[in-house]
Amino acid sequence: MSHPPVSVPHDHGACVHEALARAQTICDARGVKLTPLRGQVLEIVWRSHKPAGAYEVLDELQKVHKAARPPTVYRALEFLEAEGLIHRIESQNAYLGCIEAGAPHSSQFLICRGCGAAEEIADRELDAAIAVAAKRARFKAERKTVEISGLCARCT
Ligand SMILES: [Zn+2]
Ligand SMILES: [Zn+2]
Ligand SMILES: [Zn+2]
Repeated sequence: MSHPPVSVPHDHGACVHEALARAQTICDARGVKLTPLRGQVLEIVWRSHKPAGAYEVLDELQKVHKAARPPTVYRALEFLEAEGLIHRIESQNAYLGCIEAGAPHSSQFLICRGCGAAEEIADRELDAAIAVAAKRARFKAERKTVEISGLCARCT
């Protein structure tokens, strides 16, 4: 799926809907279960353009599942991350829905220090440039996630 830049006003509800449908298709194809709870956690993560922390997810989840506890959320987040449906933004210790779910890619994230919105770009040229630079340094790159902080178009 493609996603408009987060600073461009759009019907994000439609993005969430599409992401959930896509996640279902991916899980079906892999023979893994997107349980209702996992689906709800994915929906919560996707709902905002701001990466969601585990406790934010828990707060939201408890509105529908009073009995939800941190391990419930952690297990669901772990599953979603392992299936590549969400990404963990290390610098924020929070999660963001993946816009390229189901396709192998490495990600770069543009993270706004004004409003907190984060945007995934999966730029293949940038990824290749990192691979070349690493090779030149005789370094075997394994994880090539890049987190870039700055200001989004709405915050500048
Ligand atoms: Zn959107
Ligand atoms: Zn992604
Ligand atoms: Zn911003």
